[in-house]
Amino acid sequence: MSPVPKTMAGILVEKLGGPEVLQFKTNLPVPHIKDGEVLVKNEFIGINYIDTYFRTGLYKTALPFIGGKEAAGTVIASQSAEFKEGDRVAYIHDGAYAELTAVPADKVVPVPAELSTEQAAASMLQGLTALTFIREAAGIKQELGVSLGPWVLVHAAAGGTGGQLVQILTVMGAKVIGTAGSPEKCELATKHGAQWVINSRTEDVAARVKEITSGKGVDVIFDGIGKDTFDMDFDIIARKGTLVVFGNASGPAGPVELPRLSAKNIKLMRPVLLSYLTTKEERQEYTKELFDLILSGKVNVQIHNEIYPLKDVARAHSDLEGRKTTGKLLLKV
Ligand code: NDP
Repeated sequence: MSPVPKTMAGILVEKLGGPEVLQFKTNLPVPHIKDGEVLVKNEFIGINYIDTYFRTGLYKTALPFIGGKEAAGTVIASQSAEFKEGDRVAYIHDGAYAELTAVPADKVVPVPAELSTEQAAASMLQGLTALTFIREAAGIKQELGVSLGPWVLVHAAAGGTGGQLVQILTVMGAKVIGTAGSPEKCELATKHGAQWVINSRTEDVAARVKEITSGKGVDVIFDGIGKDTFDMDFDIIARKGTLVVFGNASGPAGPVELPRLSAKNIKLMRPVLLSYLTTKEERQEYTKELFDLILSGKVNVQIHNEIYPLKDVARAHSDLEGRKTTGKLLLKV
């Protein structure tokens, strides 16, 4: 192993704002690892919508900071008995938009030999979100066989998280309706397994959902769009349905008056991934289940048609916020 360098390239945010505040620097100090941490040389870095919330200040953190929440690469220094130099790993942790990131060992998972580093970086945060939210937020526990399961609506079904939701739900036998913002995105959502797909820019989504479900509505809604779709969700959810609102792509949803849930006895969830992955057992079990789904070919991690160089992260954020992307966005170091 070559010695650990003193400086590195990375993306620093010194003030909040648009994509232009993501500054590419080449002389950032390499983080020192503490007891129980490893230093990962990132090869592929995942971009997630949450990265835009920290950039704009919708979610709070102290300035300055290095953005990014997940990556995959190789351990180049270790203060943990669990990992050694040369191990190929993936992780979900802060400071991923950089050549090197110090990560607590309990946030790191080994990448199976059959999985590429690119696939590992592309699958972790969004795949684990899809899996934990299906199991725990929506309470869909088992494979029921094709089309015997509940009616489920997935908004932004051609997106990174939406695409994984559709595929896993389809494997589990749910009757999946997807929405997407262009004919090409609709085609992709169909490829992921959605049996019905609605173009959210040109069609009346609520009317189509009622038509497809013969007026019943959907048993579960996964909504990462937020502000623009939240009101409609109440209209198209079935009686006793579960509404899982998990993001703010169009702005935050709500607030909601609690009596609004009573007309149909709706369960409203606002989950975050990390609260489902607090113990080592949770992290290990869900990661194993996700990697098994991918390695068995049941879930295909679809990567956007461009992998961006690290220095072009601002353009990647613009594309993501401009609804120009499908699947997972990656940076290559
Ligand atoms: P996506 O790849 O899904 O990209 C966002 C998509 O949202 C767009 O492609 C677009 O698809 C759709 N969209 C609809 N309206 C808007 C709008 N006004 N502005 C921008 N996009 C819009 O991103 P991610 O998979 O990274 O994230 C999806 C959502 O899931 C986000 O809200 C994110 O915060 C949330 N999330 C939450 C987690 C949690 O722990 N709570 C964990 C992971 C993700 P289209 O054009 O097809 O409508």
